[in-house]
Amino acid sequence: MKILIVGAGLFGAVCAHELAKLGHDITVIEKRDHIAGNIYTKDIEGIQVHEYGAHIFHTVNPKIWDYIQQFAAFNRYTNEVVANYNGELYNLPFNMNTLYQMWGVTTPEQAQAKIAEQRKVLAGKEPRNLEEQAISLVGTDIYTKLIKDYTTKQWGQTPKDLPSFIIRRLPVRFTFDNNYFNDPYQGIPIGGYTQIVEKMLDSPKITVQLNTNFFDAKETYLQNFDHVIFTGMIDQFFNYRFGELAYRSLRFETEIKDVANYQGNAVINYTDAKTPYTRIIEHKWFEFGQGNQKQTVITREYPQAWQRGVEPYYPINNSENNHLFTQYRDHAKKAAPNVTFGGRLGLYRYYNMDQVIAAALQFLDHSPLTGHQD
Ligand code: FAD
Ligand code: UDP
Repeated sequence: MKILIVGAGLFGAVCAHELAKLGHDITVIEKRDHIAGNIYTKDIEGIQVHEYGAHIFHTVNPKIWDYIQQFAAFNRYTNEVVANYNGELYNLPFNMNTLYQMWGVTTPEQAQAKIAEQRKVLAGKEPRNLEEQAISLVGTDIYTKLIKDYTTKQWGQTPKDLPSFIIRRLPVRFTFDNNYFNDPYQGIPIGGYTQIVEKMLDSPKITVQLNTNFFDAKETYLQNFDHVIFTGMIDQFFNYRFGELAYRSLRFETEIKDVANYQGNAVINYTDAKTPYTRIIEHKWFEFGQGNQKQTVITREYPQAWQRGVEPYYPINNSENNHLFTQYRDHAKKAAPNVTFGGRLGLYRYYNMDQVIAAALQFLDHSPLTGHQD
């Protein structure tokens, strides 16, 4: 079959790779001037720069870990984030180090007692939003210094109006363990992420066209291909007929600094309200400082409002938007039976990389394109 894949990000690349192996003719179109979507990394002076923010691969799923290893060797990087709140430094995620730094407590029992005391402001209610969920998990002091302002900057709205699942992405643990993730598999591909997508797309059955926007010739593409896998915005695909889904955008400001070591860690979060960015990443520490020994590359991440024409980095998965998404999804089944919507934007989900790969493989496993019927 002739298959068009819109978007050379991870979802599109996994589909292209697997479908090309089965002999389909694949055309991948990508509106940006490079492949790899948001996992794109670029070599600057031997340092792999994560052009769209810090990307750490982590998963609970050994099958996905095996799958990704086909395309790169991974180092043993473990994400250990530091938070800077008006010059006070705390370890993240919330663990015994953080709790000691915040309150001077030295045992899990003392820490749990302190949180239980502060949780009383909720008067035993079930948490209904991010603020209540955060206070219930870690108490009011940590909420105030490490969560409230960061979250407000990140999402452009009060944590009272945000879904609680967002804060449950972060572990809370009563051990002295600064690992940002609970997953048993974690690392950074040695030499960056772009090679992964390059290898996925490296087949005589795959043609890649950069600087090519699907919407410049939507009807022609739909006519000329037997099937389309679309990893852009589902609401845009249907010309926003039921209204816009909400997204959050970002602006990245990258600088080369004439120092060997700028901040001593890959990721430092700025959790106060005054600092306009949420985090600074110093890319060389993802690969233990290799590359340029005299300079370093840093990126500041500024959250910004989304509007049409701006990159939609995060779906805002509150119940209203999720409901609107199901309207689009149901409509898609009837109005576009030869189009599969996939990835963070096509499925409107706050997916990590491993979940995107799992979703792509799951789709392929149940698709007539691979000889399966669902
Ligand atoms: P994308 O990478 O967005 O790819 C979609 C592609 O489609 C893009 O290249 C886009 O340009 C193209 N496209 C869209 N519309 C069109 C069109 N009309 N025509 C042509 N092309 C089009 N995940 C982790 O596991 N660990 C992390 O540490 C992590 N950190 C992150 C940090 C940030 C700041 C962000 C934003 C995401 C992070 N993620 C992380 C998530 C990760 O980036 C995604 O899971 C993954 O990149 C999604 O892949 P995708 O193919 O769905 O989407
Ligand atoms: N968060 C926070 N303070 C921090 C880091 C994270 O309050 O220092 C909250 C914030 O709401 C954020 C969520 O936790 O959106 C999830 O954090 P994660 O690091 O997973 O966000 P991502 O890397 O996806 O932007």
